[in-house]
Amino acid sequence: MTVDTESRVGNAAQRSWKAIRADFPALDQEVGGSPLSYLDNAASSQSPQSVIDRMTAYQSGEHSNVHRGVHTLSRRATDAFEAAREKVAEFIGAPDPDCCVWTRGATEAINLVRYAWGRANIEAGDEILVTEMEHHSNIVPWQMLCEETGAQLRVLPMTDRGELKLDQLDGLLTDRTKLVGAVHVSNALGTINPVETIIEKAHDRGVPVLIDGCQATPHMDVDVEEMDADFYVFSGHKMNGPTGIGMLYARRDILEEMPPFHGGGEMIRSVTFEESTWADVPQKFEAGTPAILPAIGLGEAASYLTDIGMERIARREADLLEYATGKLEAIEGVRIFGRADRKASVLSFDVDGVHPHDIGTILDDEGVAIRAGHHCTQPVMDRLGIPATARASFAYYNTRVDADRLADAVETVKEIFGR
Ligand code: PMP
Repeated sequence: MTVDTESRVGNAAQRSWKAIRADFPALDQEVGGSPLSYLDNAASSQSPQSVIDRMTAYQSGEHSNVHRGVHTLSRRATDAFEAAREKVAEFIGAPDPDCCVWTRGATEAINLVRYAWGRANIEAGDEILVTEMEHHSNIVPWQMLCEETGAQLRVLPMTDRGELKLDQLDGLLTDRTKLVGAVHVSNALGTINPVETIIEKAHDRGVPVLIDGCQATPHMDVDVEEMDADFYVFSGHKMNGPTGIGMLYARRDILEEMPPFHGGGEMIRSVTFEESTWADVPQKFEAGTPAILPAIGLGEAASYLTDIGMERIARREADLLEYATGKLEAIEGVRIFGRADRKASVLSFDVDGVHPHDIGTILDDEGVAIRAGHHCTQPVMDRLGIPATARASFAYYNTRVDADRLADAVETVKEIFGR
């Protein structure tokens, strides 16, 4: 076996990063006549062939509706669907797959908590505490709930470097605080937040915590039981799975107490015109036919990531981030946003005198796919006093060549704008 010189692993027992990259058909294409450097992984990452093949096999020979049929295909579909739940549960360190509810994604998972838990537990005068670096999906649902109930949204601020001001946490946790929402890893700045500390401090005051793990599950070893999260949400398409699937993990006692979210088939024990009773968790929260195919795809993605090893992935991405940061820092006129000590592989930047959207468009002409905008974190942009950033976000299948091509394309931007 040849050891990829880029990989710092050098262990013949492990597959090289080069071989791993070759698992992703979408990466092997040209865009506008240049090879694709896909650096938009924080928005959505690509799927390996094994995930695509698993979904094809399911749809070709196993598909049927789940949980209700006695025939062979329905049993196969149910087995595959529940096996996927077990794999993903294990991937996040959930103590029990029954604590893991399939949702359409993180956004739906947060809204599930808002409707089912929030309406039963939040009332006028209560407070919900979120951080200044939340994605809109962990702000807007709480704002809507506050409007509905008369509760108040409070905000834990961050520093210029993009780190939470933890020294203010104790003061913001009051007797009125009923929920804390915190992002595990910021999608705009890459900051890895000390969620264990936040959870511990909130729990000292008896306050449950919802962690948005969208940008954590693709990049690091996550253990929801060890961190003691009450709710943990994430989306499949950011961790090499398909769109349309995600998960809400919650403590079993919370799920059992929570009223249902959607009503319909599958979530009931019995129905009469007078009254209905609910199925056990997690089915109580999974009304209607679920996203069977995407769930099976996500299960396969979790297996794929586990096979590589999340610690190995984190080391690889840390190396790529450091290298790419150095390359951009060396270019005059480039500003980097997000300077936290602990960062995942998100590199937000701008170029003096150029709108980030123009950066994104010119980079696309060079085959470099990045994202430009507010990244659904307008309060972060307001805090930094900028309208938007250009954001390159790396996955383990990226290479230093991708970082070089990013830097070269940024030089092209400067040339075009005469900077
Ligand atoms: N939280 C974070 C930190 C995210 O990055 C995203 C996606 N950009 C979301 C929540 C929402 O995820 P989805 O759109 O898959 O529901």
